[in-house]
Amino acid sequence: MTIDTGINTPDVIVVGGGTGGYSTALRAAGLGLDVTLVERDKVGGTCLHRGCIPSKAMLHAAELVDGIAEARERWGVKATVDSVDWGALVATRDDIVARNHKGVEAHLAHAGVRVVRGSARLTGARTVRVESAGTESAPGVQDLTARRALVLATGSRPRTLPGLDPDGRRVVTSDDALFAPGLPASVLVLGGGAIGAEYASFHRSMGAEVTLVEAADRIVPLEDADVSRHLTRGLKKRGIDVQAGARLLDAELLENGVRARVRTARGETRTVTAERLLVAVGRAPVTEGLGLDAAGLTTDERGFVVPEDWGRLETAVPGVHVVGDLLPPPSLGLAHASFAEGLLVAETVAGLESPPVDYAAVPRVTYSSPQTASVGLSEAEARARGHEVDVGTMPLTAVAKGMVHGQGGMVKVVAEAGGGQVLGVHLVGPNVSEMIAESQLIVGWDAEPSDVARHVHAHPTLSEAVGEVFLTLAGRGLHQQ
Ligand SMILES: Cc1cc2nc3c(=O)[nH]c(=O)nc-3n(C[C@H](O)[C@H](O)[C@H](O)COP(=O)(O)OP(=O)(O)OC[C@H]3O[C@@H](n4cnc5c(N)ncnc54)[C@H](O)[C@@H]3O)c2cc1C
Repeated sequence: MTIDTGINTPDVIVVGGGTGGYSTALRAAGLGLDVTLVERDKVGGTCLHRGCIPSKAMLHAAELVDGIAEARERWGVKATVDSVDWGALVATRDDIVARNHKGVEAHLAHAGVRVVRGSARLTGARTVRVESAGTESAPGVQDLTARRALVLATGSRPRTLPGLDPDGRRVVTSDDALFAPGLPASVLVLGGGAIGAEYASFHRSMGAEVTLVEAADRIVPLEDADVSRHLTRGLKKRGIDVQAGARLLDAELLENGVRARVRTARGETRTVTAERLLVAVGRAPVTEGLGLDAAGLTTDERGFVVPEDWGRLETAVPGVHVVGDLLPPPSLGLAHASFAEGLLVAETVAGLESPPVDYAAVPRVTYSSPQTASVGLSEAEARARGHEVDVGTMPLTAVAKGMVHGQGGMVKVVAEAGGGQVLGVHLVGPNVSEMIAESQLIVGWDAEPSDVARHVHAHPTLSEAVGEVFLTLAGRGLHQQ
């Protein structure tokens, strides 16, 4: 192995090239800083290669399959799905990922960001040693020193459960599920958060028998209780066996699957046999081998790197910042939150005054069928924080476009009582991921229902239901008392 003794001294070193890292690098370079980004795998990180993009590509294919069933059952279209060619689906998905990957690489090159391939380990507060994978042509070690800032963006990986080691075939994580050789006929999904709900929904659309087990008393437990209720109803209607308040007792590996015992909320023990057990019990921050102690940094008991100053996302060690999935709540473990964090850190390092990330106004989406999308406080959170609230709700089927879609769903708005500030908006139904944008502005701009009620929604649209709820909360409802 050759040692490169020349010390590289960029203004900013970013460790990790996922959405948090590359957004920091691009913005910092755009502000005239000399940036080196260290990535041991592929720029784009989890979101592009194993998360948001491939999963949403697959969920798009799932929507098409569901659409054919709806076309036949509701619209007289004489069509059936013969089969799904998993290889062709994967090829389209991977082509989308590859094109995005090229795009990210091109943006970084165009911005003048130097990308160093290899694994970074901190050797001091602003110094990093990068060991490359060591090809014949380019083995080596590089030592880098950041003149202004070091940004940690090493992200997260799937959590697993003790005694339930993924083997990539029968017991899988969300990473393995992407690269499986085929579609299973039956799946037991463990974990009813966004990733679990999305994978349960996908496999059901592809014809699998699906059981979804969540230990909390409701799926998507971080969302408003009405969101959980409507999502549960929607998934059950599609034939998914949703078991909330349930626990996996044990799982036995079979030749071609697993046999698991599940204790249901009613205290019954059920045996579920499935070709695949998908473990989706959350994500763990990645800090192993990163050398945090050499920089004087520690993690909290869950492994997150906690900023001392959330307004600058700066740790207790001056000049060391953190973005993305390495951050604990109130950060959200979402790609778009990490984009906002990257912008904030880059601007802060460049000496600009940027407002902190307003996490309460960051939208959260589950891309299952039906989808959920929300921003701001749930009704329970608002009450727990001492707000007196007015709540407006409307089923999506109360507007014509909701009837056209025929998939149920709802709008729920939580506002300070007496016409005060909108605190939260919660949507369930088709396409609500595309409908949440107006609500994030409503919540982010501290609007009141009367501010929103002044604006006219297009007819016929699903978002008319959002407009209707605000009209009602402002005392001007057409269709509600
Ligand atoms: C199945 C799934 C679906 C998801 N869907 C969505 C969604 O729809 N919308 C959404 O907003 N979010 C979604 N997410 C979450 C999203 O992917 C993450 O929030 C986001 O990727 C976090 O970005 P990050 O930059 O913090 O970390 P990552 O994307 O994990 O990137 C970290 C990078 O650091 C590199 N690295 C780690 N250690 C080192 C080291 N020592 N040296 C060099 N490089 C290193 C890794 O190789 C990696 O590329 C999803 C996640 C999953 C798993």
